[in-house]
Amino acid sequence: MKKWKWKRITVCLLPAVALLLLNGCGAPDTVQVATDNGFVPFEFVDPSTGELIGFDIDLINAVAEEAELNLNINTMDFDGLIAGIRTGRYDVGIAGITITEERGESIDFSDPYYDAGLILAVQADNQTISSEADLAGKRVGTRSGSTSERYLQEHHPEASITAFPGIVEAYMDLEAGRVDAVLYDLPNVMYYVQQDSKTNFKTVGEVLQGEQYGIAFPKGSPLVEPVNAALAVLRENGTYDRIYEKWFGEDSEDE
Ligand code: GLN
Repeated sequence: MKKWKWKRITVCLLPAVALLLLNGCGAPDTVQVATDNGFVPFEFVDPSTGELIGFDIDLINAVAEEAELNLNINTMDFDGLIAGIRTGRYDVGIAGITITEERGESIDFSDPYYDAGLILAVQADNQTISSEADLAGKRVGTRSGSTSERYLQEHHPEASITAFPGIVEAYMDLEAGRVDAVLYDLPNVMYYVQQDSKTNFKTVGEVLQGEQYGIAFPKGSPLVEPVNAALAVLRENGTYDRIYEKWFGEDSEDE
């Protein structure tokens, strides 16, 4: 065969080979992650840098590194998040999402990665509410679509419940005296009780409902298994504990 012919064949084949490489075994598809726009300390915007930070953000980035996934993180109100996972608009949801049987009917969950629960917060000088038994006729703030909203609807229909799109709004109303109490996730409430200098709250009563957080996926997602495998590695190799300590300042008690 003459030389020019080889040249022509190579020139024609090169782009085809490059395309095959790119599609077949090239860069992995980007995984669309849905997270919350404000759930301290799991995902929230650092006021000094404008950056999205938190326990969940560190955890999902560590999972992605371990499972070799390429992430694109999208933020939204919690209410729309589960719907976005259910319809497959997002591939992964991480937002301190409580694993519940009801949610499990329409989405898949990873293995649990964090133990939480629900607790009531009131203003530090409140004398009238010392447990959930005192909620009748009181104004209680919480967040739309959350397990706390569901809990209040089921256990305290005699309270006046206001569910806000963002939980920060509920705390602002508690601070301003527009609601008498807020029911929300213990680690989130504790942040406002202990760390936020703009608020002056205390918790009252017991932890009302034990909960566990899981990473969410559309039903039947092929990502459940690699994400669980990655979580197991992170627990094993100390990465999980490092992230836990960074955000909660003490060793995680599981394992
Ligand atoms: N853990 C709560 C739930 O799943 C709230 C989570 C959140 O506000 N991000 O309903």
